[in-house]
Amino acid sequence: MVKQINNLADAEKKTENAGLARAEQKRPLRKGNLIVLTGPSGVGKGTLTMRLMSTVPNLLKSVSVTTRERRPQEKEGLDYFYRSRAEFEEMKGSLLEWAEFAGNCYGTPEAWVDEQIALGNDVLLEIEVQGAQQIRKKRPQSLLIFVSPPSFEALRQRLESRATETEDKIRRRLDKAREELTQKNDFHYEVINDDIDEAVNNLVHIVYAERCRIRK
Ligand code: 5GP
Repeated sequence: MVKQINNLADAEKKTENAGLARAEQKRPLRKGNLIVLTGPSGVGKGTLTMRLMSTVPNLLKSVSVTTRERRPQEKEGLDYFYRSRAEFEEMKGSLLEWAEFAGNCYGTPEAWVDEQIALGNDVLLEIEVQGAQQIRKKRPQSLLIFVSPPSFEALRQRLESRATETEDKIRRRLDKAREELTQKNDFHYEVINDDIDEAVNNLVHIVYAERCRIRK
């Protein structure tokens, strides 16, 4: 009888332990990382981001707010949240970073980023260099990746072939790019986007390495 009671107590203990283990599994073991992918406009950050997202699990892209006009193929809430300048002004307090780029404002909603990080997801910000510099200062534990073109000429060709902007806008983006390229040493990694597969492969390894890092 006493033995039976002991067995029952053991069984209950085992069940309780199993329950705790399950609860432990559900709780994220770590907070997610904030990952910044920056670099000049036209360098291919968008394509690299899509490829990276489809390769690495638990990695989410933050959707930015912008005052820029929606391009025909783009979708509200998927590519950007498109807002007027007045609306953007009102939202500034809730943005993790924001910048004016080629005549338009772009910014990252802070609350969503922090929610996802707390849930254990890595969050990727695909942003221009001024915004990345703000993150570097505000969130020093972020992973900062700078994407470079193989050459300035290659960047010019990419911007021209995109054909979504006027000549004047392309020139403004190129002037900006020249200045941005001088800032790459402020970031942790440089990925040169020459061969796209190689660039994606490098990014995937950087993201996984960051997940294993002990000291930041
Ligand atoms: P596009 O108009 O070509 O979509 O974007 C122009 C530039 O703005 C790109 O370099 C893009 O990475 C950047 N960008 C997009 N969203 C944000 C954001 O939330 N903050 C900042 N600082 N830059 C952004």
